[in-house]
Amino acid sequence: MTIYADNAATTCMSPAAISTMERYMESCYGNPSSLHSLGQRAAEALQSAREEIAACLGCRPAEVYFTSGGSEADNQAILSAARNGGKKGKKHIISTAFEHHAVLHTLGKLEKEGFTVELLPVGETGTVSAQQVAEAIREDTCLVTVMFANNEIGSVLPVAEIGAVCREKGVVFHTDAVQAAGHLPIDVEAQHIDMLSLSAHKFHGPKGVGALYVRKGVRVSSLIEGGAQERGKRAGTENVPGIMGMAAALTEACSHMEENARRVSALRDRLIEGLKPIPHSILNGDPVNRLPGTVSFCFEGIEGESLLLMLDEKGICASSGSACTSGSLDPSHVLLAIGRPHEIAHGSLRLSLCEYTTEEEVEYMIREVPRVVEYLRNMSPLWRDKVSGKKEFILK
Ligand SMILES: *Cc1c(COP(=O)(O)O)cnc(C)c1O
Repeated sequence: MTIYADNAATTCMSPAAISTMERYMESCYGNPSSLHSLGQRAAEALQSAREEIAACLGCRPAEVYFTSGGSEADNQAILSAARNGGKKGKKHIISTAFEHHAVLHTLGKLEKEGFTVELLPVGETGTVSAQQVAEAIREDTCLVTVMFANNEIGSVLPVAEIGAVCREKGVVFHTDAVQAAGHLPIDVEAQHIDMLSLSAHKFHGPKGVGALYVRKGVRVSSLIEGGAQERGKRAGTENVPGIMGMAAALTEACSHMEENARRVSALRDRLIEGLKPIPHSILNGDPVNRLPGTVSFCFEGIEGESLLLMLDEKGICASSGSACTSGSLDPSHVLLAIGRPHEIAHGSLRLSLCEYTTEEEVEYMIREVPRVVEYLRNMSPLWRDKVSGKKEFILK
């Protein structure tokens, strides 16, 4: 038995996305830049994908740029806004302390180039308010980049309010919506979003393909020089099957969004209720405003890595921190940002569900996770010291 509970890291592909890709790999292999009919058929397919994605975001097809995924879209959005700002002497950027590394490392690069990056604190529930953003905006702010929803703890941020503040102050607003696209309603007009990143493999599409929305009138520059693809903003022969698979997956996710969210969040809440009784544990993220599928806990006295390996033996695929930080010994920057002490941040577990998750799988996790936690704690000398009172518990 394998229970896949790591949907925040990546998702399985939907049957519709797979069959769409197969079709384009088999028979529509022309280069969209070629003038012959096979090429033109591919170009028409790309246009239809652009229209589908635009429909899911509430924007115009010409405002959608295909990329190699969420990381590239984040890089392109941030570097474009910084370049435009820099030209006007505006070198102040506002973001949050718990963004994805695709955002944080890009901002780090800009800092070395003389930009000032202000990372807003996210508090214990893991969010920032529009007021925090409003107070941080300066004359020389060229960009606000705040994620739509956090990939590790699942909090959903007040993006529409933040967008309204940025629009009013005339500052470009980018949001990394990689965790939100296909899962939460997005309307770039109503939410006042200037740039938005998404990635296909987070909503049952293929890996290695994503999109950047850029509102008309907002300037975007190319990361990759070469051909004139993507209206000169992203050179390279388009990943036609990937883009078609992405469009199919996003259309499918958006047309079932409400029912999926209802079903998956009921499973999520059941899982949270089932894990809460584990002593000396704490739920991470906003208890109410959270992604339908994301459950994150910290367990005192546990090493996240060992927990994952043991859960894997029980057939549960889970995650501790983000896929990018696991493998390193540093605790997750997200958990540190919400104020978890190092020791507690090391004992984190993220279980992320999707519409394919079953009730039986959730019940199995509710049975097995507490057992594994108890087993690991009983092996730990530090835990014994806490139980005997030699050391104090951090979590009540
Ligand atoms: C997965 C993820 C990314 C990176 O997307 P890729 O397509 O894997 O490059 C960026 N931001 C967030 C919030 C993510 O969850």
